[in-house]
This record gives sequence, C-alpha cells and structure tokens, in this order.
Amino acid sequence: MTALACPVAIIGAGPYALAAAAHLRAAKVDVCVFGKPMEFWRQMPAGMLLRSTWEGSHIADPLGELTLDRYQQTRGIQLPRPIRLEDFIDYGRWFQRQAVPHLDARQVTRLEAASEKFRITFQDGDPVWAQRVVIATGIGSFANRLRQFDTLPPALASHSSQHCDFARFKGQSVVVVGGGQSALESAALLHESEAAVEVVVRSRRIHWLRYGTPLHTWLHRPNNILGRILYPPSEIGPFGLNWIVDTPPVLRSFPSALRSRIERRALRPAGAGWLPPRMAGVRITTGRVIISANAVGQQLRLKLDDGSERYVDHALLATGYRVDISRSAFLAPDLLRSLRIVDGYPELSAGFEASLPGLHFLGASAAGTFGPLMRFVAGTKYAARALTRGILGQATDPVTPKVASYERERLQKPSIGEHVS
Ligand SMILES: Cc1cc2nc3c(=O)[nH]c(=O)nc-3n(C[C@H](O)[C@H](O)[C@H](O)COP(=O)(O)OP(=O)(O)OC[C@H]3O[C@@H](n4cnc5c(N)ncnc54)[C@H](O)[C@@H]3O)c2cc1C
Repeated sequence: MTALACPVAIIGAGPYALAAAAHLRAAKVDVCVFGKPMEFWRQMPAGMLLRSTWEGSHIADPLGELTLDRYQQTRGIQLPRPIRLEDFIDYGRWFQRQAVPHLDARQVTRLEAASEKFRITFQDGDPVWAQRVVIATGIGSFANRLRQFDTLPPALASHSSQHCDFARFKGQSVVVVGGGQSALESAALLHESEAAVEVVVRSRRIHWLRYGTPLHTWLHRPNNILGRILYPPSEIGPFGLNWIVDTPPVLRSFPSALRSRIERRALRPAGAGWLPPRMAGVRITTGRVIISANAVGQQLRLKLDDGSERYVDHALLATGYRVDISRSAFLAPDLLRSLRIVDGYPELSAGFEASLPGLHFLGASAAGTFGPLMRFVAGTKYAARALTRGILGQATDPVTPKVASYERERLQKPSIGEHVS
C-alpha cells in the first residue's frame, strides 16, 4: 500500500473546513481536504430557513470576496431572506469550487498519531500521512438524546438530526421535545406537512428572537447606524453580550464561571421571530418534562411531570447536540488519551491547537475555548485567521499579503484525491 503525504490535512468539508482551507491556501500552505462538501447541511429538513442573519452567514475567505453578496451577483439572482437551506447549500458548494476546487470526498475512518505525524485511513484507498491535522467535523456525531427514549425503536422516537423530510408524518400525531430553533422550526414544518403537532418544552415560556420582525429588518437596513451599534454580524445573544461573544479573545479572558453564565444566556433556546405565524394551530406545552416514554402497540405513551399522558405516533427529540469529542468514532483511542479534554471539549491554544502538537479543532469542538461563536458560520472568520496564524507561528495576520499570488494560483494546483466540483 502506497502512503501519500500532505503537510496539513483538514477533515470535514463544511463551512469551517472550507474557510480554513481558503485561508491556508492563501498563505501558501499546502492543504488536503477530506469530506463531502456541505454534507451535514444536506441532512437538515427540507424547507428549513437559516436562523442566522445574512451578515452572520458568510463563509470566510481571506479577501472577503466569496460572500453571499458576491454569490448572488455571480449567479444574477436575489436570494430571499431569511436564507433558505437549499440556497445556503448551493452557496457553500460555490464557495468550495472557488476556494478549494480539489478535495477528496472520502470519509476518514481512522486518525492516529505516530512519531510526530498523523496517519489518516479511509474505508478504501491508500492512507495519508500528515504533519498537521485540522478536525472540522461539526456536530453530526454529538446528537443529544434523552435517556427516557433510549430503548424505543426509531419508528416511535427519533432525534431531529435523523430527518431531512417530514412528509412521512402526514396524518400522524407527533410530540416535539425542545424549545430551541430546531424544535420550533421542526414543529412548523410538521404542521405544514399536515401532522398533528404538540411541542413540549421544559422552560416556562418560549423565547422569540427579534430576527425577522419589522423592527429588526429596519435596524438591518444598509447604513442604519443604530443597527450597527446594536448588532455585530454574528448576532449571538442579547445586546452587550453579543459583542463579547463576537470577540472570542475577550470572552476567553473572563473567569470560567462568568464565561459559562454568558454562554448559557447567549445560547438560551429560542426561536426566530418569523416562526410564530407558521405555528398557529400547534399546541405548545411549557414548563413540563416528559418523565417516561413507553411503546403501547403501534403508539407511544408519554407521561409528563404534571401526571398527564399523551398517546402519539411519534416523539421527535429536538434536544440539540452536546459536544463530546470522545464520541468521534474516527479518533483512535490512543490519540484521544493524549488530549486534555474538559467537559467533552479539547483544550486549545490561541491557534486552535490541542494538547497534542499538530492537531487542531475547529467549529463547535472549539467552543469550549472560544465560546458560542464557534457553533455558527459567523465564527469561520475568526477561527480561520487564528488557525492560519497559529500554523505559521505568526502573531499578525499572515494571510492578506499572500492573497494576490494565491488568487493567481488557486485553480492551477491539484491536491491529492478525487476532484469534486
Ligand atoms: C438544524 C440546524 C440548523 C442550523 N442553522 C444554523 C444557522 O442558521 N446558522 C448557523 O450559523 N449555524 C446553524 N447551525 C449550526 C451549524 O451546524 C454550524 O454553523 C455549521 O455547520 C458549522 O460548520 P462546520 O464546518 O463546523 O460543521 P459541518 O457543517 O457539520 O461540517 C462538518 C463536515 O464534516 C464531515 N465529516 C464528519 N466526520 C467526517 C469524517 N470522519 N471524514 C470526513 N468528513 C467528515 C461532515 O459530513 C460534515 O459535512 C444549524 C445546525 C442545525 C443542526
């Protein structure tokens, strides 16, 4: 078996991997990218709208030229806002073709550390050796299920991540568990698919974000100074905290108890302001917890903590994702043992490098160090720049001066593996 080598391997081909590859290539670092472009987004429910704003949904490139605005111009179209899932996937594929035209779509099955290098293995084909590895594999393997539903078959209870089409629930009764965007939007989509839907949420009330309301739209008109003062591009958390979350080094400098409080508040489950009209007719039960779930014939019996019961066809657990990198099946046990991990997150340096030299983590796995911004596309700018600085060992932004030559060369240099366009 021949072993191929590459200086920096990036695993995953979602927004963080693509942004990192674009920045590293601009800084003349050879990168190999492994993964199917935007694959995680393809598994999200059809008809979904992005919760993040236009300004918070650009995938970062070093010159700021591969924005959603540029994508619109190039395609000669005007995208509706909120951004539709299919438009964002298409934008991501366009970004990939521009910035990372050659990537290897294979799934990585094993990552091992061996004598200052990393060995990357696939289901088929030759392994690859890399001096550095950037893990940008997202949250797909961290779905958070509730214990009460563990023994039930998928026909009766499933996690929201398992559905990209709710049409099969037409005519069925479905309880959606959770009070965040995913739960509320799933409820709206189920309702529109003619299912009878009830949302059961632990908190006493549903929190609605201003995003999508007329006031928010007015504040986001071009040149609205007040809007610019109130909202950074990412718009994560309420005014004041949103600027702290948007500046990871500031958040990082806070004592951990204060940081946790800020993070909890910024990530409080909430739904976009454009959802309520679509949910008219959906029953919402707040302040309640499901204490048991049992199969009764073809149905599910749910017992709530107020003693009431529901007999339904299905429970949809929109209970989010909990990062725990030890659940990443492709990471070798020895490699995992060599990492310092706190609450499921790897400890990272300013350059997103883990305690095992040469291994970097981007995206939600970096949120333990850099905060909630890393869970959203808006964090790609900070992360890709800091990663590049870290890899080049430079204190200042190394990317910009090298961009011109990168622009000339980027379409000429194939890297290993299959070409996906
Ligand atoms: C329902 C839902 C709605 C969301 N809406 C928004 C939103 O509106 N705005 C927003 O900013 N964020 C949103 N998010 C969060 C979103 O997941 C992240 O912002 C974004 O995906 C982060 O990009 P990423 O590159 O870290 O991860 P991903 O986009 O998940 O990319 C990681 C990629 O790695 C690949 N991969 C995993 N393991 C391997 C392997 N072993 N080998 C090769 N490839 C691998 C996966 O297939 C995946 O495509 C949403 C999340 C969910 C679940």
